[in-house]
Amino acid sequence: MWTGATTTMAERSPSFNIVRLFYTVTIWATFILNCGGIPWTQEKLRHRAGTLTQSEIDAALSHTKIEQMWQRDLRPLLVTRYPGSAGNQAVQEHIKTTLTSLGAGWEVTEDKFMSQTPYGYLPFTNLIATLNPSAKRRLVLACHYDSKYYPPQWHGREFQGATDSAVPCAMLLELARALDEILKAQKSSSPDLTLQLIFFDGEEALFQWTSTDSLYGSRHLAQKMESTPHPAGATDTNQLHSIDLFVLLDLIGAQSPRFGSQFPSTVHWLTRLQNIEKRLHSMNQLVDHPNSVEYFWPDRPIGRVQDDHIPFLERGVRVLHLIPSPFPSVWHTFDDNEQNLDRATIQNLNKIIQIFVLEYLNARPAIPSNTQNAP
Ligand SMILES: [Zn+2]
Repeated sequence: MWTGATTTMAERSPSFNIVRLFYTVTIWATFILNCGGIPWTQEKLRHRAGTLTQSEIDAALSHTKIEQMWQRDLRPLLVTRYPGSAGNQAVQEHIKTTLTSLGAGWEVTEDKFMSQTPYGYLPFTNLIATLNPSAKRRLVLACHYDSKYYPPQWHGREFQGATDSAVPCAMLLELARALDEILKAQKSSSPDLTLQLIFFDGEEALFQWTSTDSLYGSRHLAQKMESTPHPAGATDTNQLHSIDLFVLLDLIGAQSPRFGSQFPSTVHWLTRLQNIEKRLHSMNQLVDHPNSVEYFWPDRPIGRVQDDHIPFLERGVRVLHLIPSPFPSVWHTFDDNEQNLDRATIQNLNKIIQIFVLEYLNARPAIPSNTQNAP
């Protein structure tokens, strides 16, 4: 019954006024507490990235070198590396050695397990590198380091999987190396937000893609993270809650990639990548890049793609899937090799993604001071 227009005896009494005051104070206190102290698991929804100045961008990008990435990170990855192979083991060692030798102090952990496959039980190993494991929130960059298994070819060719996904993994290693000093400083200045790199094993189907013959590593890790409390000792939050945004890089390295939008909840981050692409273009930081926008197209919806993000997406993690649409023409052919990679595109994307990471983490490079002007 609606009684709003009627003033009762109770509403005129002094005790009613005290009760009304109590409720008013309680409602305001609740409102203020909620505005100032939202649960940490919700902070990702309100996260604001910083914007670097042009001189900060120049300083930040002065350490990334495509030749360095090619020789030190990409070449060691361009080997046959299907799960359980000698090449797979060598690539694991390369990733671990690279990250643990950096100054920022990455913690690298292994998620090892066995799984039934069409070829019997095989070993799998995901690698997880965390800049600051005690930080509650993490920006995740991910790739898969395994290569698709092809039975030995009698004409002697090997499947390199250059875009699939040697280049994305090399890009993550180059990012960690090039931004080492800035990430080291960010670690101490922002203890609540950090960067995590995930290198998945067993993304590829070993025989033919099905729900059980694919995504071996990501299915295992998503389940494991869901059952691992975070922060340590927490009873109602787990490692999946720690993921602000899960950025998956795949099939990168061919000329003229176009990244469209799959998920409305994260399209604003794709818009931000486009914004960074425009800024770097205007600064002449990008090569073979005729128009201010070539790669990132938040206004172009693309269909869902089965990839390592799926087990995370199904558990409520917010995903940004950086996979070109259409796929590179060499996809799953023996031409997906080093000769068909485009260095300019890879270096441009290195720069855009490095700035994206720094701005997301609100990390700023130190600008070298002009000593000539010093007193
Ligand atoms: Zn593939």
